[in-house]
Amino acid sequence: MTRFVVPAPAQPSLPTTGAGRFPVRRIFCVGRNYADHAREMGHDPDAEPPFYFTKPADAVVESGAVIAYPPATRDLHHEAELVVAIGTGGHDITETDATSHVWGHACGNDLTRRDLQAAAKAARRPWDMAKGFDASAVVGLIHPGPIGDAAITCTVDGVVTQTARLSDMIWPVPAIIAHLSRLVTLAPGDLIFTGTPAGVGPLLPGQTCSVAIDGLTPAVVTLR
Ligand code: MN
Repeated sequence: MTRFVVPAPAQPSLPTTGAGRFPVRRIFCVGRNYADHAREMGHDPDAEPPFYFTKPADAVVESGAVIAYPPATRDLHHEAELVVAIGTGGHDITETDATSHVWGHACGNDLTRRDLQAAAKAARRPWDMAKGFDASAVVGLIHPGPIGDAAITCTVDGVVTQTARLSDMIWPVPAIIAHLSRLVTLAPGDLIFTGTPAGVGPLLPGQTCSVAIDGLTPAVVTLR
């Protein structure tokens, strides 16, 4: 039995549609994976390969949670995303094999302190404090098995703010897994947020934001 000198952290985990929970190891997020969102952020969607940022595993928030408006921002944004849950690890995974490494899928909301991200971009600094803050990764129930093309929608207090098809992604899920697995060895418990379509915008205290993907349980979060 290892003796730790401070309390060992609890294993972050998320509910699935079944009896068991999914243990969260790392959270990778793809930047600019929908052309219309890349354009709204001032970038050429055809010019860049995928790139990634991360959030801490214990930033996960289960659907239905009520969270505090985060500190240090006046411009919290929602980002509706498909989340891929890795079940089998590996490196240098081919696009052909990628689907066999996926345990399941969920709806996700990549909460973003947009003002801090803009400041970081301007200063050529990392995005960590814009993206990887406490309670920044809202994830719905993880559904096992594959997913096809589907509509993805974000609503704020019932008003639709984002709508797209998963097939609108510049880099489809197998391409992301293949590319990311050449940068790091993927492991069971890893989550991949696959990017957001156009229509990102602010969330205010008291508002409820729901990310829905056809065939999956929505990821809902309310701000105090
Ligand atoms: Mn995002």
